[in-house]
Amino acid sequence: MLAPWPDRALRGGERFESETSGAAGSMVLTCEVCGRPLDGAPSKVTMDGAVLSVCRRCAGRGKPYQPPPSPQRGFGLAPRPVRAIKEPELEVDPQCGPMVKQAREKLGLTQEQLGRAINVKASVVSHVESGKMKPDIALARTLARYLKVDLLVPSAELEP
Ligand SMILES: [Zn+2]
Repeated sequence: MLAPWPDRALRGGERFESETSGAAGSMVLTCEVCGRPLDGAPSKVTMDGAVLSVCRRCAGRGKPYQPPPSPQRGFGLAPRPVRAIKEPELEVDPQCGPMVKQAREKLGLTQEQLGRAINVKASVVSHVESGKMKPDIALARTLARYLKVDLLVPSAELEP
């Protein structure tokens, strides 16, 4: 905590002193063992399991306080809800079959040509279009990119 008063205010005299003594008094740290005001940085010690800020004279009566190396940040065992903070997951649109077919026909491609273009068998294209096969995300992405259609939907929209 920084003293809010500029230096010259401190030379203000008695009146100033008495005005501030109340506020300053509550901010003065005292030794938690003997109650004396601390004239420097308090020493932190553990005594009977409690962490106390004590004066130098009392510091020798406890064990030096060692802050825990890393308080549950990053190394915590509690599972973090990773999925909850991820961007919405995408799923292959269940209606992608007709969309693929339509987009392919619009481009004037046969199933063989489309299959060759995206490196899958024509039968895969056929199965996807007929709905016999649901493409995985990777295939759907490839199809979507090639056909310039949107075949992925956020999975939240599919689940009630
Ligand atoms: Zn003390």
